[in-house]
Amino acid sequence: MMDMFLPAPVKAALSRLEAAGHDAFVVGGCVRDQVLGVTPHDYDICTSAVPQEMQRVFAGERTIETGIRHGTLTVLLSGMPLEITTFRVDGEYLDGRHPASVRFARQVEEDLSRRDFTVNAMAYSPRAGLVDPFGGRQDCRAGLIRCVGKAEERFREDALRILRALRFSARLGFPIERDTDRALRAGKEQLKKISRERIAAELTGLLQGKEAERVLKAYPDVIVTVLPELGALTQSGQWHASLRAVRFSPLDPVNRWAAFLQHCGTEEGNSPALAETVLKSLKMSAKMTDGAVRLISWKDAALKPDTLQELLVRVGPDAAEKLIRLRAANRLSQGEREETVRQDTQRLLEQLSSLLARNACFTLAQLAVNGRDMAAAGLKGPAIGQALNGLLLRVARGELPNEKEALLSAVRAGF
Ligand code: ATP
Ligand code: MG
Repeated sequence: MMDMFLPAPVKAALSRLEAAGHDAFVVGGCVRDQVLGVTPHDYDICTSAVPQEMQRVFAGERTIETGIRHGTLTVLLSGMPLEITTFRVDGEYLDGRHPASVRFARQVEEDLSRRDFTVNAMAYSPRAGLVDPFGGRQDCRAGLIRCVGKAEERFREDALRILRALRFSARLGFPIERDTDRALRAGKEQLKKISRERIAAELTGLLQGKEAERVLKAYPDVIVTVLPELGALTQSGQWHASLRAVRFSPLDPVNRWAAFLQHCGTEEGNSPALAETVLKSLKMSAKMTDGAVRLISWKDAALKPDTLQELLVRVGPDAAEKLIRLRAANRLSQGEREETVRQDTQRLLEQLSSLLARNACFTLAQLAVNGRDMAAAGLKGPAIGQALNGLLLRVARGELPNEKEALLSAVRAGF
């Protein structure tokens, strides 16, 4: 029997539930990660106690009740938020998205049977040990993503599981078992019923996986089902280049999406516009959409230590750093020597932080002259903004010092 490390608050929650006569286990991702020897990023708990009973067990603790209708109570123990959910079985899925009803269950095995993949369908408690009715541990060992039960039915119940299979395959580096693979390819059209936000979250997770390149390469048809705008890209020579760039990108989602979408629409000559359409169709945040589109728009900009300050004027510090990393990813994906790319990237990042550290001028607010100075020099209306922006660029290029007198005389000379 395996012994699993549990943080003290998690252990305490399990014992308190058990002391009150309930069954309680940690479940899902944290058990899988432990079996794989990875540190879990959170611990979900499942229990035979219904929410009212949980509230009694944790009376006096801070609780958050947002999920209570679905049987979930969040309890804060020693500052650690713990999601505790009553064993459930889903009712029939009538629409391929939501169970028509949720029924509480008595046994942990029932709860495990509604979960998506064998590796995610294990529970553990110090008292009962590992509960693994579907061979999750063996699939962890073999490295396989396999549906719990009949794959075809499980994807028909909830088509999001198709993308979840791809995400876990990319993230864990496990290939998808044959029947599960066949069923997900056959069922991909059902993804059209799934909300764009849920699709977006799984795709972002997939892109951040260590084997995103392999998975995307193996399932272009599934990707095109949810992102039809990528049809032409997947047929072009740029597809594999994009996927290699994803592999060499930092985990940051803006970087990953930018690498992935950087070549889409190039045949039509409007790459950033199509990328924007794709991201907006996924209802991505403005931060994500604008961030990725900006990187794609500037992906071919000159990147040298002495042009960085000008780049800061054009895109700001956050995008500048991401652009340096996108460039590195693209160079590596084209087979450039790792050592050369690493050194160049290092140099650019050092230059960037030194510019920021010494408060180098890249915004109008930092410029030694302002609108009033321009007006006093005789400029009016839009000419004022134009002059300030022109001065800012010249300062950033090192052509003018950021000093009031020098800037004013440049304006007077009609710079
Ligand atoms: P991660 O480390 O990425 O959070 P996770 O396994 O915790 O991995 P979640 O998406 O947080 O993944 O889901 C938690 C658990 O809930 C899963 O392990 C799985 O058992 C179950 N689950 C989540 N979504 C579904 C679904 N659509 N169908 C069936 N089971 C699901
Ligand atoms: Mg999770």
